[in-house]
Amino acid sequence: MDLEGRVALITGASRGIGRAIALKLGSMGARVAVNYVAADLQNEVDAREVVATLEQMGVDALMVEADVRDGEAVKGMIDAVVSRWDGLHILVNNAGITRDTLLLRMSEQAWDDVIDINLRGTYLCSKHALKPMMRGGWGRIVSLSSVAGIIGNPGQTNYSAAKAGIIAFSRSLAREVGSRGITVNAVAPGYIRTQMTDVLPEEIRNRFVEMIALRRPGQPEEVAELVAFLASDRASYITGQVIGIDGGM
Ligand code: NAP
Repeated sequence: MDLEGRVALITGASRGIGRAIALKLGSMGARVAVNYVAADLQNEVDAREVVATLEQMGVDALMVEADVRDGEAVKGMIDAVVSRWDGLHILVNNAGITRDTLLLRMSEQAWDDVIDINLRGTYLCSKHALKPMMRGGWGRIVSLSSVAGIIGNPGQTNYSAAKAGIIAFSRSLAREVGSRGITVNAVAPGYIRTQMTDVLPEEIRNRFVEMIALRRPGQPEEVAELVAFLASDRASYITGQVIGIDGGM
């Protein structure tokens, strides 16, 4: 129970990697705020299921709606978490989308949506989370980057740029807030089985697996293990880092 007494907020926690992180941090003793965006009814149903699962585990959990692109909504979400539990210690910037296409065909909308949800969302959530973390003198920010942000990927110029931006953002913020007891790190998953990758054509998924030393996609729970470690006291001397989790890609 490494996270006993800690308050954690995970963005985009209604499914996939975010859901696995919420359950993992909860199992380690954290109180967990599950963020989702009310884009359609299914998101709310999914977020409700995550909160119900946490509660069945005996975890104190809260459902918080906010589009991470919206500064006012993000501020309201953080205020709701702080007023419920009188603090915020762990932020996981997980919310993310892809809008894959070659650059020559990429619309301005596809560029903006990907940059806004992945990168602007990370900026807004981190900015508003910092104040309560500073007040508590302890904090952990862990953001989901990607191998695409390190080595690039054809068809993902928007996504790769956003994920590379998250790495530079994390390294810079780590230098700003290290003296306040706050660590800032990024994780860079490779190919993880979620709805985000299940929509890819089988041929592309098979090609990914051939590039992976372990010859299989990763599971959301395996990424959650790494995030949980970085969010704990055991990672007290790790900051400004980007840690790959890609099965040897
Ligand atoms: P996913 O299954 O598609 O889940 C993405 C989550 O983000 C969903 O809960 C989604 O909510 C939420 N989200 C989307 N737009 C949002 C917004 N505007 N505000 C708040 N939440 C929003 O994806 P995943 O595979 O779990 O990915 C999680 C993170 O890991 C992402 O940042 C992704 O880029 C990163 N990553 C994934 C892989 C992989 O192979 N899967 C690899 C590297 C990095 P809705 O239900 O509302 O859409």
